Amino acid sequence: MDREEGSPSDRPGTSSPYRRVLLKLSGEAFASDAADETIDGATVERVAKEIAEVCAETGVQMAVVVGGGNIWRGATGSATGMDRANADYMGMLATVINALALRDALERQGQPTRVQTAIGMSQIAEPYIRLRAIRHLEKSRVVVFAAGTGNPFFTTDTAGALRAIEIDAEVLLKGTHSGVDGIYDADPRTHPDAARIEEATYDRVISEDLRAMDLTAITLCKENSLPIVYFSIMEPGNLRRAIGGGGIGTLIH
Ligand code: UDP
Repeated sequence: MDREEGSPSDRPGTSSPYRRVLLKLSGEAFASDAADETIDGATVERVAKEIAEVCAETGVQMAVVVGGGNIWRGATGSATGMDRANADYMGMLATVINALALRDALERQGQPTRVQTAIGMSQIAEPYIRLRAIRHLEKSRVVVFAAGTGNPFFTTDTAGALRAIEIDAEVLLKGTHSGVDGIYDADPRTHPDAARIEEATYDRVISEDLRAMDLTAITLCKENSLPIVYFSIMEPGNLRRAIGGGGIGTLIH
């Protein structure tokens, strides 16, 4: 049964410093190497359960931008000679597949959810309409933004930064899937003594090429003073910690 929709202030136990957040999930966060699945039902369900629980517990308004890299990346197509824009449109469609999987999993958790796409496909999802998205959020619906920015030559990280700014989110939560729980001063997989950077400025991330997100996304965040929390979504409980505002991953601001 659906959880009752209502304003966050109606809900007890609010324990987040944030009113509205945007969570960026890479497509890989839905995949499973072990099960050899592009979209692994159990993995999507775990992420959806955590999102639903955190929204119910804290009353935080949550929008999600999903990537498509588990299915297709434009760069892969263009490397084999495909027209880049065409390959990128394929990538944007891949994000819609992930968004529908996430919506399904969230609704099964009792979390009311809407998908909005940057490329019109009205039979399966709403078009992206900023004020309508905000209205959904105010009614405690999770809004999943799909099809990236709707433009080739961009990434879903940039879509995440753009949508976060548009909906006036207070933070961009970049959930990574690689098992690395933040930005390190060297690659922790090859340098056992690498140290996690707890806080970094946008300029440091750019000048040291720390690869938290692509340059367009970081620059957009910098120009609009949108903080980014870079953390591992693969560890259960991490989303709750990130929303709780407690020192997790790397804060870029
Ligand atoms: N894409 C695009 N414009 C956008 C967002 C995404 O063309 O605004 C395409 C691009 O080809 C990209 C693919 O969609 O490779 C999948 O997105 P992304 O690589 O960002 O997914 P993620 O790595 O987060 O899973």
